[in-house]
Amino acid sequence: MSVMTRDFFLYLSKNKALNRAAQNWGGNIASGKIVGGLDFPSSVKFIKELNDYGLSVTVDHLGEFVTNKAVAIERAEECIRTIETIAAQKLDSQVSLKLTSLGLDIDDQLVYDHMTNILDTAEKHQIMVTIDMEDEQRCQKTLDIFKDFKSRYNYISTVVQAYLYRTEEDINELSSYKPFLRLVKGAYKESPTVAFPNKSDVDQNYKKIIKMHMLSGSYAAIATHDDAMIEYTKELAKEHNISKDQFEFQMLYGMRSQTQRELVKEGYKMRVYVPYGDDWYGYFMRRLAERPANIAFVLKGMTKK
Ligand SMILES: Cc1cc2nc3c(=O)[nH]c(=O)nc-3n(C[C@H](O)[C@H](O)[C@H](O)COP(=O)(O)OP(=O)(O)OC[C@H]3O[C@@H](n4cnc5c(N)ncnc54)[C@H](O)[C@@H]3O)c2cc1C
Repeated sequence: MSVMTRDFFLYLSKNKALNRAAQNWGGNIASGKIVGGLDFPSSVKFIKELNDYGLSVTVDHLGEFVTNKAVAIERAEECIRTIETIAAQKLDSQVSLKLTSLGLDIDDQLVYDHMTNILDTAEKHQIMVTIDMEDEQRCQKTLDIFKDFKSRYNYISTVVQAYLYRTEEDINELSSYKPFLRLVKGAYKESPTVAFPNKSDVDQNYKKIIKMHMLSGSYAAIATHDDAMIEYTKELAKEHNISKDQFEFQMLYGMRSQTQRELVKEGYKMRVYVPYGDDWYGYFMRRLAERPANIAFVLKGMTKK
């Protein structure tokens, strides 16, 4: 895909008017295809369907770059309700969240208070909470917050992005925390001063960080739809006798569903990231930036299996 197409969709992903329009009239378009549902209760049936196929889940309440304190408080409360529902309904699901949805751009103390309440609940129910990684500007702060909570809580993990030059060093620095890390290529528009501009370099660095983290003995979540990266991970695990309970694959809801099930049949742990909520526009635009054919999810369902 051309860099121009990717940049165009990433530019659109920040358009506030289109975002509002999508929230107002687009919910039914997205529901059950790219997002679980417009709220958590309506997503539960999709999560149960995935669990029935042996697929684990992580749920994410859509919404990011929140600048209103009341909204950030509501997001934190929603997260706690979600963890409690997962526990009560015995769903095989973890939770993912974005720190900007909890108020990272408003006030650090707000984020600390919200994370404390969320992680107290997660610890009680033994449900993992993963802090998604957002754009590079917020990376250092996100890792600092992760490290602070990781020294006190068990059920917390975060994400590192292969497109950032800094990631190799971050993995080295994080290794003393024995972290559960999700490894991704990276989804935001970044400057070449901080991120590899060429896809081939990102792919090469992705392999490098997969190897580094898997050989460190800490749990790895390899979050990709790329067959080449999946094959690389399988071979690496075989070569170094890394057991299948030391890592998992992750994919987004609605993408490569058949491949997800095949990986389960082969005995691999496979987790599906199920976003829910009406704020799906930015998330969907980033998926189009990755692969314009993803429009097919909304227009007519799946393309390549
Ligand atoms: C579970 C999960 C969580 C994530 N969390 C974050 C996060 O916290 N922060 C962040 O920045 N990014 C996150 N991402 C997004 C990630 O950074 C990438 O932008 C995204 O996964 C696209 O990269 P890729 O590795 O899937 O493959 P790409 O490099 O986009 O594609 C490689 C090849 O894979 C195949 N392929 C890709 N998509 C499809 C598809 N839908 N159907 C069929 N074939 C396909 C194609 O052959 C394609 O050429 C997450 C991704 C996943 C899966």
